[in-house]
Amino acid sequence: MDKKQLRQELLQARKKLSEQQWHSKSRAICEQLRQYLNDSPVVSPGRTILSYFYFRNEPNLDPLFELRDYYWGVPRCVEKELSWHFWQPGDPLVKGAFGIIEPLPKAPTCSPEAVDLIFVPAVACDERGYRLGYGGGFYDRLFHQPQWQNIPKIGIIFDVAFVPELPADSWDIPLDGVCTEQGWRVKPLHL
Ligand code: ADP
Ligand code: MG
Repeated sequence: MDKKQLRQELLQARKKLSEQQWHSKSRAICEQLRQYLNDSPVVSPGRTILSYFYFRNEPNLDPLFELRDYYWGVPRCVEKELSWHFWQPGDPLVKGAFGIIEPLPKAPTCSPEAVDLIFVPAVACDERGYRLGYGGGFYDRLFHQPQWQNIPKIGIIFDVAFVPELPADSWDIPLDGVCTEQGWRVKPLHL
């Protein structure tokens, strides 16, 4: 099956989750990630984690922004690129490209040297860590840049979006881990 068809099918499956399921599964993912941050040596206090604001019914990671041991960065879509800005609860937000919530352009930007971990939203992920996005290639272009390459990347999906094998193009870069409400589907090496 090609990426386009798969995207439609997997988004359809995600849409079938009730609001109640979306809440409880999102909470379970946050709990898993919170545990990971507590236990793992990957992120030290005072370092930066890149996350996202959920779009439609993506897993909601908002509760993690309350963890004040870390700085948090969120993206803005600027033409074909993602621009990363520090954000904390209470800071202003606007609706940006594709109707996705974004920080203001003037919010300070995060440089890759400050970043220890990236939570990556996805339409689907597979057992090798390959990711299917919405088709824009935004994260592919980001991960292609040398300064972002060695930062651990965790795909965040609901379990319905975890599949054995996705089609992968030459530009697709596998993630280091995949977390769902069922736990680690792809375990990061350092865990
Ligand atoms: P997604 O990752 O969002 O599912 P695709 O993997 O299908 O989407 O990629 C979408 C588009 O992004 C592709 O047409 C590809 O040309 C473009 N793209 C991906 N990586 C790069 C890159 N490193 N440089 C330039 N364009 C890229
Ligand atoms: Mg891709």
